[in-house]
Amino acid sequence: DVEVSFTGPTRIMTISNQKGGVGKTTTTVNIAAAIASLGGRVLVIDLDPQGNASTALGVPHNAESPSIYDVLIDDVPLKDVVQQSPEGETLVCAPSNIHLAGAEIELVTQVAREQRLKTALAEYLEDREERLDFVLIDCPPSLGLLTINAFTAATEVFLPIQCEYYALEGLSQLLGNVKMIQKHLNPRLRLSTILLTMFDARTRLSQQVADEVRGHFTGEVLDTVIPRSVRVSEAPSFGQTVITYDGNSAGAIAYREAALEIVRRGSADAKEGES
Ligand code: ADP
Ligand code: MG
Repeated sequence: DVEVSFTGPTRIMTISNQKGGVGKTTTTVNIAAAIASLGGRVLVIDLDPQGNASTALGVPHNAESPSIYDVLIDDVPLKDVVQQSPEGETLVCAPSNIHLAGAEIELVTQVAREQRLKTALAEYLEDREERLDFVLIDCPPSLGLLTINAFTAATEVFLPIQCEYYALEGLSQLLGNVKMIQKHLNPRLRLSTILLTMFDARTRLSQQVADEVRGHFTGEVLDTVIPRSVRVSEAPSFGQTVITYDGNSAGAIAYREAALEIVRRGSADAKEGES
């Protein structure tokens, strides 16, 4: 058994990468389930209209279900849309649904349109009886108002990088966007965590991408890499994370290991701040 302690302020992470298909949603749900399995209290906010995070967490998200859309557009309190996930006792999820596809445009005319998620989340965290340890926000692959809301609400950017061709393409754009958000909307935001995903040990390419990323970034890159694994990609079709679908698979083990690193690094950062 591993020993971890959950202390300190709630860590709010936006899982972002402007490329689609790099493992953002997979990382969000599996890290969330892994942290919950360690005893951490986690909220996942599904900001992608496709609702894949909600699916993997076994949370209803049809057109009639309450969703994060109601929070962003109709001022419904976040607590009214948050649902328990069967993936963990301490894991809850604010689901997306199809209406969110229109939110990108509807937000344009809203008051404080960049801050709506931040405001709703602050109220929710204040009202909750039990402190949350993590909030993980699954972003769509574009820099629209949904992603800007996530960047504005978060304290940390969590960047999954797929070990494939063109992995680093678009990264400078993402870093530029983070700088812009820091300057205008959220000075606390920092890129804290990079996770290499879909690593294929049989290819030189995977190793090359990993080396290149570790050359560019130092402290941010987790030691753990997530292997490419069929079990990881199968799990969502059973409405599950790989942590519950096949807890002994290489993917589940790697995601638990990565979660442990994230939790431990956080507490190390907090200690540095204290001294
Ligand atoms: P994004 O949210 O960035 O668009 P996803 O998490 O949806 O990316 O992943 C894209 C695709 O890759 C999905 O079909 C997913 O099941 C698959 N996938 C993600 N991680 C892995 C992995 N470690 N091994 C195998 N397939 C993976
Ligand atoms: Mg996704």
